[in-house]
Order: sequence, then C-alpha cells, then structure tokens
Amino acid sequence: MQIFPQPLEQTIFTNSFVEELLGDPSQENVPRQVPGYHYSPVQPTPVPDPHLLAWSDELAAFLGLVRPPERGPAVELLAGNRVATTMQPYAARYGGHQFGNWAGQLGDGRAISLGELGAVDGSRWELQLKGAGPTPYSRRADGRAVLRSSIREFLCSEAMHHLGVPTTRALSLVGTGDEVVRDMFYNGNARPEPGAIVCRVAPSFVRFGNFQILLAHQELDNLRQLADYVIRHHFPELGVPSPAVYAQWFAEVCRRTAIMVAHWMTVGFVHGVMNTDNMSILGLTIDYGPYGWLEPYEPGWTPNTTDFSTYRYAFGQQPRVALWNLMQLAQALTPLVSEPNADLRPALDTYVTTFNQARQAMLLRKLGLTPQPDGQPDYALTEALHAALETAEADMTLFFRRLSHLVPVLLTEATGSGPAVQQLIEEVSYNPAGAVHGPLQEWLEQYAQRLGQESAAPEAIRAGMLAANPKYVLRNYLAQLAIEAAEAGDLTDLERLYHVLKTPFDEHPAYEDLAAKRPDWARTKPGSATLSCSS
Ligand code: AMP
Ligand code: MG
Repeated sequence: MQIFPQPLEQTIFTNSFVEELLGDPSQENVPRQVPGYHYSPVQPTPVPDPHLLAWSDELAAFLGLVRPPERGPAVELLAGNRVATTMQPYAARYGGHQFGNWAGQLGDGRAISLGELGAVDGSRWELQLKGAGPTPYSRRADGRAVLRSSIREFLCSEAMHHLGVPTTRALSLVGTGDEVVRDMFYNGNARPEPGAIVCRVAPSFVRFGNFQILLAHQELDNLRQLADYVIRHHFPELGVPSPAVYAQWFAEVCRRTAIMVAHWMTVGFVHGVMNTDNMSILGLTIDYGPYGWLEPYEPGWTPNTTDFSTYRYAFGQQPRVALWNLMQLAQALTPLVSEPNADLRPALDTYVTTFNQARQAMLLRKLGLTPQPDGQPDYALTEALHAALETAEADMTLFFRRLSHLVPVLLTEATGSGPAVQQLIEEVSYNPAGAVHGPLQEWLEQYAQRLGQESAAPEAIRAGMLAANPKYVLRNYLAQLAIEAAEAGDLTDLERLYHVLKTPFDEHPAYEDLAAKRPDWARTKPGSATLSCSS
C-alpha cells in the first residue's frame, strides 16, 4: 500500500517491460546492432551538476509525488546520477521509416526508461529520461539533449495535455551543468549549448517501429511477445490475444491515431518528424522535436528545415502521413493474423472515417454549431473556412478565439459584414491587403446565417466556444524567447509561459502579451520560424 504523496526517491518502481520481454545479455554500452532482443539494459551516465529547472506539479500530484528541492536525491534520479534499487533502466530497440525510407535499427539512442510507478488512480506510468547518456542505440551521437530542445519538449507536451490532446507528459526539466555541442542547422556552425534532461511520462513509449524492426529481422516470436505485452498491459479490454484480437487491436491503434491527428489539425500543431519511430502505439503525441504551431493558417507549412525539399510532414499532410505510417505498422503485424488483407485493411478505412468524423466534430464545436442529422451543408461550410483562412493569412488561434467573442454580435446583427467583423479580420490577418480578406468575409456571412439556426442562447454558444478555442498556445517565437532567456539564466519567461499553458482556455489579464499575434520580427527568426532535427 503506497502512501501519497511521497518523495520520488522513496517510490517503489516496477519493471514490466524488462521482466516480460527479452533483454540483450550484453552489458557493452557501445553503438551496435542488437538482433534478437526487445531492449538493452543500460545505466544512465551521471552529469556534473543536476538541478531542477521546471516541474509539473499537476502531473506530480497525479503520480503521488512531492515537489523536490532544486538539488537533492530526487533530482539526482531525474538526471540519471542515481538509480533507485527498484529501477531496471533500459533502452528499447526499434526501427523505423525516416522520411519514407526504411532506416533499419534506430532505438532509444538517448532515452532511458527507468521503470513504472503507480498513480493515485492505480494506473501505471513509465518514467523515461531523455538525454541521460549513450546507449547501444546511440549510433554516432552522444546520447545527450540541449536545454533548447528540452524546454521545447517540456512545455509543449504539457501544453498539449492541457489542450486535451493525447500526448506523453513531462514531469521535470533538469539542467545538467554540462555543455553539449550542437550544429543547430547542420551548416557548420556548431556551438556548445547547456545540456538538460526531461523526465517524460507515459503508460508506454512503444512505437510503431518497435514492431517493424522485429518483422524486418523475421523475429516472429519476439513480434508476438511484444504485441501480447502491449495488449495485456494497455488494451486489456480486448481480451486474450488471438488472430482476431490482434486485428481488433490494430483497429483500435488506427482509431486512436485518427483522434490524435484530428486534435493536431484542430489546434494547429505540426509535429515535424512523423517518422514511424515517432508514432506511439497508444496514439499519443510523442517525440517533440522540430514541431511548430501554425500562425497564419497555411497547410503547406512546416518549421523543419530537414523537410524543406519535400514538405512531407507539413501541416496539411499529417492526416495522410499518419495513414501511411499505419500501413507500415499493418505490414509489420501481418504474421500475427490469418488473412492480412481481410483482417487489417478494414482498420485503415476506420482510420479515415474516424479522422473525418472527429475532425468535423471538433471543428463544429470550435464554431459553436450543433451537428446536423445530415451534416453535408456543414461540411461545405468548414471546407470553405480552411480556404478562406489560408487566403486571408489569418492567425488560426486568434481567429477562433475572437470569433467566439463575436457570436452575440453576429446573432444580433444577423449579418457577417458589420464593422465588428471587419475589425476581427484585420486583427487576425497577417496580410493588410484588403483583397485577400474577401473569402473570409463571405464565409463569415454564411456562418452568421448558419449560426442563426442554433437554438441555444448567444451567451451559451459563446461560452461553449471559449471552452473549445484556446487563448494560449505555445507560439513558436514565445518558446524561442523563453529559451534564450533560460540559456542566459533567467527562467521568468519559461515560468510565465508554462503558467498560461496550464489553463489555456482561461483569461489571464496579466499575460495578454502571450496571446498576441506573432510580431513581424519573428516571421523568419531561426528557432521559431525554422528548426531542424538537431537537438
Ligand atoms: P528523432 O529524430 O529524435 O526521432 O531520433 C531518431 C533516432 O536518433 C532515434 O533512434 C534517437 O534515439 C536517435 N538520436 C537522436 N538524437 C540523439 C543523440 N543526441 N544521441 C543519441 N541518439 C540520438
Ligand atoms: Mg524519435
């Protein structure tokens, strides 16, 4: 019986992944292929001066943990300087398709899982350190992470959670006291940056790529064992694994992936590197790297310079890419079912229908509209909105938030062309040229008419929309400003941002600056407009 809350260093960990799956018997912590195993046991490498920079009180409370002091035993655990006796740290073996090409073995090159602990509701959560030193999967890299990318992962995974998007979580951000050399844009400008470690938390970090590597090596017993482990622990409602259950499980993975991507499209999140090793088997957003948030609504946008030749992972491509990734997962699972085509293909159709329905339901909620029995006219309305927002170069987050406030006016005036509408368009558009505003103006007129068919009171519609349209998202330039200040030793910006991102649908009068449209100087700023995989 656990007594909550307790200090991390007194928590008892369990290690189901390590105990129920096959571990590499070699203790050699050098880059190598690890055929035949699911993971490699590996110890984190200590850092010079671990100190706490950020902590998620809300996640900690759920996990029954007390906030630790800046330095001490808990922070040493969160930096990998100390390993509790009940922990059995490991790095998982996985492969993946990177930018559409099979890349062979990748694996946890800088992530080390410590073990699982029980939350206050009895569920079990795995703790994983990102940047805790080399593993057999580090290939030519150092196993470390810089403060810049660690702040981005900490803030964004917590922000996504509070927006209601399925995601891995972040418990802590720890500075290492060490420097790590990175060439941020792979252009010969390597420089030392402060090092950091995020402790991320999820029920499991298993990815599509964990299955793919096993098929690639024809390790079919290992493939089945991993599938059984995942079903037993994370999809127990499906029952005892059998060919029929594997098919149902795949359908559920498709369904969850569809919901996750629908959320991304709804909040304007661009993952940036949707390689199959970055796709969670639980349908969680995972591996926050060169991600970005839409400012002007632009389906072709990605911040990831590594993707500038094909734009494979641009915002508007994400639903299609997730489907492609699911097809690769289906391929990996074929040995588990009797008739791959009949057993797995319908789930891919499920993905498409679930995505379309979820996306539309989320959009209607943002627009304060009740789904109609025959939804067809509303599909036309929402389709037209995407095009109008793009043409008007409208800030997506600001548009929906301002629109929520405008609803009572639209209903009273019963027109979408009054001065308040003009003002809204001018405020949310990044392009002052009136000509590009036309389609959005027309759309608002159609919307005002459609809104008139709603029976709820204007105030109720407005309140519903304010609960669906966040005021605060992790704007790219705000993250970058917080990073630059933190690198100079000032955590104020990071703390202010984190504060609003925890309640993004609320008004925070003292934090209006964090809800502002992207200033022009940030339009092309490296680190906010552009990023790479170097982290
Ligand atoms: P990502 O692009 O972050 O998904 O990483 C792709 C692969 O490279 C994964 O196997 C990572 O573990 C590995 N990797 C990325 N950065 C590092 C690093 N600094 N040290 C070791 N491995 C890394
Ligand atoms: Mg990754």
